[in-house]
Amino acid sequence: MAHPVVKVSARGAERLRMGHPWVYQSDVRAAGAQPGDLVRVESDRGRPLGVGFWSSTSQISLRFLGPDDVADERTMFRDRIKAALAFRDTLGIDGTAWRAVNGEADRLPGLIVDVYGDPSTPGETQSRSGQDPSTGRVVVVQTLTQGMDRRLPLITDVLVELLTPMGVLARNDPKVRRLEGLPEQVVVTYGDVPARVEVREGSVRYGADLHHGQKTGLFLDQRENHDAAARYAHGRGLDAFAYHGGFALRLAERCREVIALDSSAPAVALIQENARRNGLSNVVAREANVFDELRELEIARERFDTIVLDPPAFAKNKASVDRAASGYKEINLRALKLLSPGGCLVTCSCSYNIDETMFHDILEQAAADARATVSLIEKRTQARDHPILLAVPETHYLKCFVLRKLA
Ligand code: SAH
Repeated sequence: MAHPVVKVSARGAERLRMGHPWVYQSDVRAAGAQPGDLVRVESDRGRPLGVGFWSSTSQISLRFLGPDDVADERTMFRDRIKAALAFRDTLGIDGTAWRAVNGEADRLPGLIVDVYGDPSTPGETQSRSGQDPSTGRVVVVQTLTQGMDRRLPLITDVLVELLTPMGVLARNDPKVRRLEGLPEQVVVTYGDVPARVEVREGSVRYGADLHHGQKTGLFLDQRENHDAAARYAHGRGLDAFAYHGGFALRLAERCREVIALDSSAPAVALIQENARRNGLSNVVAREANVFDELRELEIARERFDTIVLDPPAFAKNKASVDRAASGYKEINLRALKLLSPGGCLVTCSCSYNIDETMFHDILEQAAADARATVSLIEKRTQARDHPILLAVPETHYLKCFVLRKLA
């Protein structure tokens, strides 16, 4: 069947040439394309450029799949997912929960696939993509565009073939789906997905709720930063914005005591449950607003040797950048005051709209106001199974700086 044709302006074509796979509404003209159609992309003079998925509602009308024709969609999905899995196989991931497909950076714009393995099955030691008969793993998928959403049954099929999971869950509740005119819903698309799965990250085991937890259950993008934080951890630790204790539990292996703070009561309960599960008796989890609690700790003249700040994205859009910047500055200033000389601050921002340079500036100002002399030990980002596409700045969202207070 002939695919509908979408013509793109010279500006749109240049964007594609530079490797950015999105073309905006103002740069396209479509004739008869339906929501989620695979379309042929041409320049305004009719020169063939490649193929992509069409969206009828998003500002991003076209997501480019590449210059080559897609003769068979199943083959395209199987080849690209296989390549993504083969790459993950090379990473030596120390854990059983990992991202298999990261959208644009795996040439599958709008598709996220996370794998939550059961560490009690032999599958853990076998190939991530191989013929592993493991039944303990669960796959969580997000189809965030019309193109991907229409193909959810096909994608489920391919994932079942390649990963032999016990179940596939579509966590299609992110708000971004509204931009595509898609409903927010959570559905099991294959097999069974238990209410709780146990996964391992480094030396720590977690119970994850894939149906209701944030993101697809855990913050897998922070896995390697949890590990990095553990390397610097010493003395008395504070994990602010702790969620299920991703940082706190790793700090607890090295610190004499760790206080974990989160404003969500269910999250705090899970930190405690996870601490018990790992036999860690030195973690104290408290339900608190970090902004208030940092102020109170300061008034009480408390001191810490290792502090982690991992807040939710304060800048959800360009309009909120200024307010977000003052939020980041405030928590970092207070943390630097609470830190003992020789102490370490692991500080994160997952706001795409605050880039690495801005984040650096904010931290510099916070240090100056705290009258602290601070060195920058590491500039980190999201874990390697969440790769960044070089031409797509939007895929680089997570900043994680490791700072040391000298005096
Ligand atoms: N550090 C975690 C992820 C943190 S996500 C990990 O590595 O797994 C951000 C967390 O901040 C969420 O759990 C949310 O409940 C919490 N949060 C948001 N605003 C808060 C506030 N003002 N005070 C305390 N916690 C807050």
